Amino acid sequence: MDGIFQINDNQVVETAHHFFITICAVSGSGGMEVYMDKELLKVLAAREQRWEMRRSIVEKQQNCLITITLCVPLLYRTDEEFRILFLKLCNNFYKTLVFKGHQVCFENCIQGDDGPAVFISTETEAKEIKKICVEAEESIIGGRILDIDVMDRDGSPVGRGDIGLPPRKCFICENPAAICVSRRLHSANEISKCVMQLKKLIESNNEQFNKSPLPLIKDVYEEKDGISDDNQVKM
Ligand SMILES: [Zn+2]
Repeated sequence: MDGIFQINDNQVVETAHHFFITICAVSGSGGMEVYMDKELLKVLAAREQRWEMRRSIVEKQQNCLITITLCVPLLYRTDEEFRILFLKLCNNFYKTLVFKGHQVCFENCIQGDDGPAVFISTETEAKEIKKICVEAEESIIGGRILDIDVMDRDGSPVGRGDIGLPPRKCFICENPAAICVSRRLHSANEISKCVMQLKKLIESNNEQFNKSPLPLIKDVYEEKDGISDDNQVKM
């Protein structure tokens, strides 16, 4: 993994500070001569901007906010094809929320150095909407490549733990994703293969995807009379 993939927005500021302090400590001279990865700094800056945008939308709308980002390595997050897939998935998720009767409002869509992000505010209570977001990540076709975060009306993030759920699983093995990221348990090749399989799965179900307001994986299995093992990706 690229090491910065799958850090929540919530951890951005903390990570940036930690990064800076570590560099200062290691260099012993204020960090002036230490080379800092420019790409990493751009990504961290983009995340900080996104965090600020979330806070300002919540403050303005006085509602809960859903933020959707891509949960794949940076190489794919900044890829045009993935951006298009992302927008289709977001559009579908939005339709699902409307279909289920939630009062939602599309707020913004940005494209930055950390990839795309979509912001949707909702009048639904934060914990209730978080449950629906988790369900979408796990059941919508391709939902596994989305990170759907929720912020409550006071600007506090609502995580899986707040609704009594365990941390999100890695999409390759059964471990919590954070463990695989921090211990770098999977090779870049292994991750790429899995991401490309997910992309294929989304594309091959594009038709169902466009016409169904709630394209659950089980529906597609039923309609297509099962898909081959090759296309099955552990959700
Ligand atoms: Zn894993």
